[in-house]
Amino acid sequence: MPRTRAELKAELQVEAERLIEAMLHWTEQTEAPDLTAIEDQVLTLRQQFGEKLAEAAVERQATAAPLTVRCPQCGRPMHQKKKRQRRRVESRVGEIPLKRAYYYCDHCQVGLFPPGLAIAGGGPRVE
Ligand SMILES: [Zn+2]
Repeated sequence: MPRTRAELKAELQVEAERLIEAMLHWTEQTEAPDLTAIEDQVLTLRQQFGEKLAEAAVERQATAAPLTVRCPQCGRPMHQKKKRQRRRVESRVGEIPLKRAYYYCDHCQVGLFPPGLAIAGGGPRVE
């Protein structure tokens, strides 16, 4: 069951608070850090928050998923091949969990996972 907008927002606010607290704690514990150390710390925290944001965006998108998915190649309706799968996907903002249905076109033998990402042949592969 996807979380509501308000639940997601509250969760992101808690995460932001946690990261801010972690940053402040780090500054108190780290004596005279150089720019590289500051960069490393900020990038680590940014990475964590980025993953949370991406996760929330994916979840919101799943809520609004269309009921009929059409094949991007032939336009025929695709069928849901498997129940929703949960997998962790490496993205530019870090590793995020995707829990999406996998759709398949028997005519073109093309799958979509998640909708919008075409995967030629074989099984689900997300890059
Ligand atoms: Zn097709």
